[in-house]
Amino acid sequence: MALGSLLPDLLPGGSGRTPLIERVARWAKEKPDAPAYTFVDYSTDPSGVHITATWAETDRRARATAATLRQVTGPGERAALLLPQTLEYMMTMLGAMHAHVIAVPLFSPDLPGHADRLIGAYTDAEPAVIVTTRSAHPHVEKFLADHDVPQPKEIVFADEIDLSLADRWENEPVAFDDLAYLQYTSGSTRRPAGVEITHGNVTANAAQLWAGWAPEKPNPELVSWLPLFHDMGLIATMALPLVRGDHAIYTDPVSFIMNPMRWLELISERPGKNVYTAGPNFAYEYVASQATPEKIAELDLSGLTTCLNGAEPIRTSTLSMFAEAFAPAGLRPSAQAPGYGLAEATVFVSAAAEDAPPKVVHVDREALTQGELVLCDEKSERASALVSCGRPYGQIVAIVDPDTCVEQPDGRVGEIWVHGPNTAPGYWRNSERSQDTFGGTLADPGELPAGPWMKTGDYGVVHDGELYVTGRIKDLIIVDGRNHYPQDIEVTAQEAHPAIRPDHVAAFALPGEETERLVVVAERNRRVPLGRLDIDEVESAVRSAINVEHEMSVHEFLLIEPGGVSRTSSGKIARSATRQRYLDGELPTTEARLASRK
Ligand code: ATP
Ligand code: MG
Repeated sequence: MALGSLLPDLLPGGSGRTPLIERVARWAKEKPDAPAYTFVDYSTDPSGVHITATWAETDRRARATAATLRQVTGPGERAALLLPQTLEYMMTMLGAMHAHVIAVPLFSPDLPGHADRLIGAYTDAEPAVIVTTRSAHPHVEKFLADHDVPQPKEIVFADEIDLSLADRWENEPVAFDDLAYLQYTSGSTRRPAGVEITHGNVTANAAQLWAGWAPEKPNPELVSWLPLFHDMGLIATMALPLVRGDHAIYTDPVSFIMNPMRWLELISERPGKNVYTAGPNFAYEYVASQATPEKIAELDLSGLTTCLNGAEPIRTSTLSMFAEAFAPAGLRPSAQAPGYGLAEATVFVSAAAEDAPPKVVHVDREALTQGELVLCDEKSERASALVSCGRPYGQIVAIVDPDTCVEQPDGRVGEIWVHGPNTAPGYWRNSERSQDTFGGTLADPGELPAGPWMKTGDYGVVHDGELYVTGRIKDLIIVDGRNHYPQDIEVTAQEAHPAIRPDHVAAFALPGEETERLVVVAERNRRVPLGRLDIDEVESAVRSAINVEHEMSVHEFLLIEPGGVSRTSSGKIARSATRQRYLDGELPTTEARLASRK
């Protein structure tokens, strides 16, 4: 059965339809001195300098930015944000939305490891204007000189905006169908695609996220380190405070990666309050792995209401590891909320946000390869754990057979389709692909809308009124008529031998004569010295574990050097990119393997 319903308030004509951006002025009037956005800067002081803009200041800075942008470009043109994640970044987003200039949230070109994403998205968006800061400008100049990319007409310095221009800016009404920004996808399965996010989409999704997180307690605060150039970070940080004039405290991803405890310290600074945060599975795993008893003893997480876990497959081992690690610091087991979303839906689709610990079901792995959810005993050898992503808010989710376009019954795996005011109209300048993804029509819709449905490309299943995401269609490995999800095989591989670096494994399929063939590529764990590494032993451990757990043989196993598995800018495994590098013979095979082959 389809899940969720549309909220009349969020539909055209509904009362919740004041465009989100217009609320900046409202909060500036109603609560001018209340904090709106706080950026915590660890670059000058490792203990973090808090820089806050009140709602009155946010309004003034956003208006001055809008006026500046409109001096150099017109409505409908694009402004690429090539600046570090600071307070200016947020003001630029808001200013562009006021100015009817389509923002393209990217990053300063000196951010390591992200060059391809920047070149691809920047070129695709063809911006008229680049917004940067004085200190990032040399990196922008180098980027423009080194690559064959369109030259902008103007460069605007976000840290040198003339605030007096705010007095001359009259906010212009925005239409819900106007484009607010282009959200480039993570690029897990392809080159990042620019999703066209309208003002209507962002307004709806912010309200849906708020409803889904169900903040019943007053004065919610958001704490985040997530990149603003990805969907989850942008919506959580920028849009949530706008809904009711609340406060977001954020830092940047590099500060988090360098010292993940900063995330929890920012939450710990607010004991007994009402704090919300979000992150992908790997972040919870990372911070739990870095926590020592001394560090945990210094934390007070009693103020943490909900931490949303989304953006990539959620592991039960991570949920329990995080819960156990931080229980002594006052983390409530019910604070963890698994969620599901994607850029094509602005971001947020569903969450299990009620005040209860995450729900996990154990299902028969063999039945799942045939597309059936059959519950089984947790201790069974065939048990596979699935985490509930709860229910959608203000939108409808249906599980559909992608070939017949027929809705599937509960317990049957199919493609997750979404219909709601938050699904984007299309991809930027790609009408063919837009039609494919956003123009889904149900055969025999019954009570459901016939269309348009957004096809997520993910498989999922509804059980007991909740959504379980099983994995991406494109990454599926189909051997002898059974569907295997690569993330399950990767976990089996990494648990098979300590010489494999956890979370740095990619499993993918190659075409074979009768059926697909499985290739597993795993990074070497630096903790095992090369001199003691017996590649043959690692390989046979992986082969036999996959054979036993998944009843499948491995066509080729490759141990490679750390860093060799391709990842997206949000840290997800990019299996098709890894596969391509495998086919091109570009993977950095571990030397010991070469030695053992001689
Ligand atoms: P691309 O579309 O460019 O290949 P991407 O799909 O990773 O990249 P995003 O829109 O940022 O780009 O990520 C959304 C995807 O992340 C979803 O389609 C889904 O595959 C995955 N995802 C999100 N939440 C979950 C979840 N709870 N469990 C499993 N997968 C999830
Ligand atoms: Mg995607």
